[in-house]
Amino acid sequence: MASEIKKIGVFTSGGDSPGMNAAIRSVVRTCAYLKIECVGIYRGYQGMIEGDFKTLDARSVNNIINKGGTILKSARCEEFRTKQGRQKAYDQLIKEGIDAFVVIGGNGSFHGAMLFHEEFNFPVMGIPGTIDNDILGTSYTLGYDTAINTVVEAVDKIRDTASSHNRLFFVEVMGRDVGHIALNAGVGAGAEEILIPEQNLGLERLLESLKRSKASGKSSSIVIVAEGDRTGKNVFELKEYVEQHLPIYDVRVSVLGHMQRGGNPTCYDRVLASRMGVKAVESLLEGKSNYMVGIRDTKLVLTPIADAIKAHTEIDEELLRVSDIMTT
Ligand code: ATP
Repeated sequence: MASEIKKIGVFTSGGDSPGMNAAIRSVVRTCAYLKIECVGIYRGYQGMIEGDFKTLDARSVNNIINKGGTILKSARCEEFRTKQGRQKAYDQLIKEGIDAFVVIGGNGSFHGAMLFHEEFNFPVMGIPGTIDNDILGTSYTLGYDTAINTVVEAVDKIRDTASSHNRLFFVEVMGRDVGHIALNAGVGAGAEEILIPEQNLGLERLLESLKRSKASGKSSSIVIVAEGDRTGKNVFELKEYVEQHLPIYDVRVSVLGHMQRGGNPTCYDRVLASRMGVKAVESLLEGKSNYMVGIRDTKLVLTPIADAIKAHTEIDEELLRVSDIMTT
């Protein structure tokens, strides 16, 4: 039986991440390929409530696969958290003749989509777009691979100057609730210590490790600190603490900040986005709804949104061990 879905909306929501444009392009082109209309919804749920729509065809998404950010813009929208707000959004979609939507975003955006599906029986499909890699049901979220490569590149540069002056650098990276960026980029950049939200190694252990590092003849030290690390001190307080307790060290701080969200997506993110976009549209046309497209063991899989948003992904214990061994 032919699908009842003739027009699909696509939007990006929450924090932007590299690869979102590649996913938009994929959704639009898959719709064009399958002769389904596609509508871009600007500024996430805010634009949905305001009816900020634009029809997109295959040519509307030329030359965006390589671009960071999102051509559809992203926004946070308090009104969508209310039943009245979602009703307004629903009325706008119906007015425009949109039969289903693909949301590219993180946990919060998925939560909103799930409620929307439950309240209006409206077909929704999620594509995980966040640099944090914190969503259950997928080994990779869009933008994560780009972000860890950005961090590694930045830390390599910091290492050059750290080595030249025998300095210790605390480098703060994104990750309030999860330490995937810190751990993976830390191992990739050869950091001496990695502080993540999932474990509190304690300040004593940090001092011991830095002492050992100095004694072993290392000319520089890099400590990667996730925003949500559990030492109870931010990077600037850590700098003061180490200066007080280990005056042998000349300490500097670098907060990488929003640069981690930007930049051209890596090939991995572009390919993943392309695959996820196709899967999202095809799944909607097969009558599936309220799922997130993810990747596990190189295969695309669907996970109910309700399961995807239940908790954050856990830190990789094996990589933690590797990190410990590498800092010897
Ligand atoms: P990131 O991981 O980058 O923060 P996110 O999708 O989790 O992305 P949020 O700011 O949490 O970002 O959510 C984006 C938008 O989704 C919110 O501004 C709001 O409009 C909607 N949203 C979030 N949580 C809910 C909820 N519980 N109910 C309804 N809508 C929600």
